[in-house]
Amino acid sequence: MADQFLNYINGKWLAARSKSTFENRNPANRNDLIGRFPSSDAADADAAVQAAKQAFASWRLVPAPKRGEILYRVGELLKKHKEELARIETREMGKVLKETRGDVQEGIDCAFLNAGEGRRLFGQTTPAELPNKFAMSVRAPIGVCALITPWNFPLAIPTWKLFPALICGNTVVLKPAEDTPQTAARLVEILNQAGVPPGVVNLVHGRGEEVGAALVRHKDVQLVSFTGSAAVGRDIAASCGQSLKRVSLELGGKNAQIVMDDADIDLAIEGALWGAFGTTGQRCTATSRLIVHRNVTKKITDALVERARKIKIGDGLDESVEMGPLINQAAREKVLRYVDIGKQEGARLLTGGAVADSAKCADGYFFQPTIFDQVRPHMRIAQEEIFGPVLSIIEIGSFEEAIEVLNGTAYGLSSSIYTNDVARAFRAMRDIEAGITDVNGPTIGAEVH
Ligand code: NAD
Repeated sequence: MADQFLNYINGKWLAARSKSTFENRNPANRNDLIGRFPSSDAADADAAVQAAKQAFASWRLVPAPKRGEILYRVGELLKKHKEELARIETREMGKVLKETRGDVQEGIDCAFLNAGEGRRLFGQTTPAELPNKFAMSVRAPIGVCALITPWNFPLAIPTWKLFPALICGNTVVLKPAEDTPQTAARLVEILNQAGVPPGVVNLVHGRGEEVGAALVRHKDVQLVSFTGSAAVGRDIAASCGQSLKRVSLELGGKNAQIVMDDADIDLAIEGALWGAFGTTGQRCTATSRLIVHRNVTKKITDALVERARKIKIGDGLDESVEMGPLINQAAREKVLRYVDIGKQEGARLLTGGAVADSAKCADGYFFQPTIFDQVRPHMRIAQEEIFGPVLSIIEIGSFEEAIEVLNGTAYGLSSSIYTNDVARAFRAMRDIEAGITDVNGPTIGAEVH
């Protein structure tokens, strides 16, 4: 019998009102059924929002440093359970243990950062225009926040949303991704154990279109924080615009790494390899374009192809494995579709491009590390988010051309440049249109603050 998991509403673990459930399976081995989770709908969303609304009345009055003490205990508990959480994540999401340990560490850092913020929620004072008038701004909580999260950082992303909301005195309803519900359930247990009062954090599982959309529409939700695809983010922003809710969105990327001909080539190869193939290319900040100066293209391409062929693919719970599976069948079909598109567009497939088919990979959604060269900037494989282990190499002849190619997509999340020319590095930081620019480091990697 598979484990049955539940929603968490007003301090109680509950099935969906409809009693319907969905399965959560291990992407490295679909025969491994992790458990059944509630397939919630608008009625469950409403129950969770009402619980959060009621709890807001008292949680907002708990002094922020006291809320910080609870978050500090959450951080301590996450530390204690780090290995257990990393293993839960790897089993339901697929990425290797080294990466899921990093994911949990981000959650730990986020807990301690926000615990400290409880003593620094500063406001401002300002001189008033009128005599005998005093002017100031203070921070006040907003109310019930709906937090909707993706599967690729199943612990870290919920914590980025939960802990700042909680320290500021808000109450929340968390709707985690359907592919990674167990990590969220374990996180909520830990919050409960640390002393978060009933109703302050509520958890509803289920499909985004159903329970996620119900939360976004709910009249008592004051704020929506969403991380996921641009397509869904656009719909959520439109819906929040209609109801004048506050909304924060963290969406997709088509991130590029530039390598100039004066760069440390070995460092650039290392960065591109793990930027592209770490987490099987399923990071919002994954490197999916490599923009290389023509003087060094051959050297870099040859080395990358050789290294990519040697990457050990398999179950992420095996410590020697370097790259796990894709998240599900739909993701693998999408990557295969883009490989076909790349070939049709005239790019040259240098390695990979197919399902990984060794005996160890037979029951999971594995895919080979894939590299295209002769990619032109306008091609769809250079413009659209593939979200898999596919790297497109684009050759350029100058720094100016590299910047133009890098900026020439609809996305602007992360970027990097490898160069030993400090003036060029500073020009890149100024001229690249992306939220993050790394110099001599890969496009991936986050600092919690
Ligand atoms: P997704 O948009 O399919 O789903 C994200 C979440 O939204 C899930 O919980 C899902 O159930 C829910 N959802 C789906 N449809 C919904 C709807 N109509 N209304 C409300 N909720 C809905 O994304 P995904 O496949 O889970 O995640 C991958 C995407 O996330 C990629 O595009 C990636 O780049 C992006 N991402 C961005 C960041 C960032 O910080 N910028 C971080 C990680 C992932």
